[in-house]
Amino acid sequence: YIMTTSTSTHPLRHWINLALWKKIIIAMALGVIVGLILGKDAVWLKPIGDLFVSTIKMLIVPLVFCSLIVGTTSMKDSTTMGRIGIKAIVLYLGTTAIAISIGLAMGHFFAPGAGMNLVADPINAETVKEAPTLVQTILALVPANPVNALSSGNILQIIVFALFLGVSLALIGDKGKPAIAVFESLAEAMYKLTEIVMSLAPYGVFALIAWVAGTYGLEILGNLVWVVLAVYIGCLLHIYFFYGTTIRVLGGLSPARFFKGISNAQAIAYTTSSSAGTLPASLAAAQNQLGVKKGISSFVLPLGATINMDGTALYQGVCALFVAQAFGIDLSMADYFTIIITATLASIGTAGVPGAGLIMLSLILSTVGLPMEGIAIVAGIDRVLDMARTAVNVSGDLMVTTLIAKSEDQLDEEIYNDPTTANNPV
Ligand code: ASP
Repeated sequence: YIMTTSTSTHPLRHWINLALWKKIIIAMALGVIVGLILGKDAVWLKPIGDLFVSTIKMLIVPLVFCSLIVGTTSMKDSTTMGRIGIKAIVLYLGTTAIAISIGLAMGHFFAPGAGMNLVADPINAETVKEAPTLVQTILALVPANPVNALSSGNILQIIVFALFLGVSLALIGDKGKPAIAVFESLAEAMYKLTEIVMSLAPYGVFALIAWVAGTYGLEILGNLVWVVLAVYIGCLLHIYFFYGTTIRVLGGLSPARFFKGISNAQAIAYTTSSSAGTLPASLAAAQNQLGVKKGISSFVLPLGATINMDGTALYQGVCALFVAQAFGIDLSMADYFTIIITATLASIGTAGVPGAGLIMLSLILSTVGLPMEGIAIVAGIDRVLDMARTAVNVSGDLMVTTLIAKSEDQLDEEIYNDPTTANNPV
């Protein structure tokens, strides 16, 4: 009897069973307290945090490379599929580029990292770079040597090569199957490894937040509130202003009906932080509430859940600027351009699972040479941001799906405009 009570109430067991995001929030709170108590001595904890940052960096190249190849090869090839697929990809990527621009505007306008004066550890700072010109940035997209790109971690080049390779593998039909199977299996393994690394987040966050709080005091929390505000306001603008306008102007459809129809799926996305997990709910919303024919929704929505991440891109725009401001680093016009291109392409390789956007943020930071410690500071509040960005991701999938259905004459507008369809079974 004594043994059972002692194991079931054991604090360690309680900790192990706690949901990851709760652990991270607790770790962050403890980190702040410990950091404030230790003051400058909190720097002793920093190596633990650096270890966590290294494990995240370790994931980037293989994760992006494999999941991008798998993403491109999974596109179907028959002609209508091809036409719809191209429409979908153009709309998905176009809306993502707009999302990140809104994110950059929010980050610029709110300046959540202004006045923080953090100092990056030279070990973690990527090579000090001369700002390249716009033409140089574009030319540098194509790797002269792909192996070199992989080994030096040149993410833009890796993305471009992975896209070419994925398309070619799809084009050679049966001959491409063995290689595709290998990349699929590696991609799965990388998702698993991401999950394992994310389970270390509480400890990394604790150590780094303790270091930050010990070195810079409490003011940093105020800055984080501004990050959350900037991301949330950006997300609301993107959904209710940008999607609303697009659905009316390009589709000639009522935005009010659209928002009513997607509200269930949004709620599920917000609470689960996973667009892949929300897929059943978004399929139901598209078919039952918005009147999208099955042929369209069953192809365009899963594609969107995999490659379309407007909310994630928006969040990365805000966070990249936050980190730059916090560490007092000036970004050039070419850096902004690089961020937009990287985040848009990276969204294709972002898995629709909780926390994936944070890993991709480290990729964007390293591409423009921003310090990796930024990840740890953002990690503490990442779940709150993940919820909002996932709701945007799913809304964007549904918006594009509805537009494509309309353009292909596959939208049942009676269902779309019927106010009672909100009660259709989900
Ligand atoms: N959780 C997001 C999604 O599933 C991805 C991300 O972390 O940004 O859409």
